[in-house]
This record gives sequence, structure tokens and C-alpha cells, in this order.
Amino acid sequence: MHCPFCSTVDTKVIDSRLVAEGNNVRRRRECITCQERFTTYESAELVMPRIIKQDGVREPFNEDKMVGGLMTALEKRPVSIEKVDEAVTKIKAFIRSTGERELPSRVIGEQVMKALRELDEVAFVRFASVYRSFKDLEEFRAEIDRLAKDTTTNT
Ligand SMILES: [Zn+2]
Repeated sequence: MHCPFCSTVDTKVIDSRLVAEGNNVRRRRECITCQERFTTYESAELVMPRIIKQDGVREPFNEDKMVGGLMTALEKRPVSIEKVDEAVTKIKAFIRSTGERELPSRVIGEQVMKALRELDEVAFVRFASVYRSFKDLEEFRAEIDRLAKDTTTNT
């Protein structure tokens, strides 16, 4: 961090404290050369990985698109917006927790399916049948079983 007064590279931190619900760190710094003091704010950069589409094209993670998919599946279903928000927060936390810089879109789709399965069975089936082009009912059923198993082992 350059000193804003004399542009010296060397500054030292004399005090750090958390501000704004712990999302930011406020630091008091002192320039080693001119002794001027100044304040910096630091916040964790919450970077979402880029999404690798099925054709290999990379695109930025699009939350609106993901929420749109959820909402379409949940149309006219008895699920509150709070529940949807909760699910979205959970999915985003999962995506970040992978620590990957790029993630296949399939991973997001699977998380959405898992979330829907917990929220509403009908919405889950709607989403899954659009999302995956299942060859037959048997394949679809196998997928549901697989997800059911995942859900129980993860909780
Ligand atoms: Zn200075």
C-alpha cells in the first residue's frame, strides 16, 4: 500500500478493526518515510467462478439466470420467497466453497436440483425434466434416486 502523501511503498499497520458486521477491515496505517497516517478499508472479494457451458464456452456466473430457473420451476407452487432466497444463498455459498475459478454449468444445475428437491417435489420434477433431457423414465427415476441418496448422506 503506497503512502498517499509521499508515495513511499513502505507503510505499516498500526491498528486493525472489523467494521460493518465483520465484512470489512479498517486499518490505520503510518508511512515509514513521512510519518503521515491514513486509513484503508479491506473487504474479502467474493469472486464467483466462471461457468463452463456444455459446449465449452465460458461465461460469468449469472445469478439472475439461476434464480429465473428456480422461479420458473416453482411457479404456482406453495414455496415462500424467503425459502427461495435461502436456497440461492446456500447454492452460492457452495459454489464459492469449491474454490474453483471455473465450474461446469452441470455442477450448478445439480445444486439447483438438490435445492428444489428439498423445497418442492413438483418443482424438482419440472426443473429436472427440462434440465436433463432424459432418454426414458427409467433414467429419470435413477437420477431421482441418486439425488435422494446424496441428500441423505450429506445431512
Ligand atoms: Zn509518506
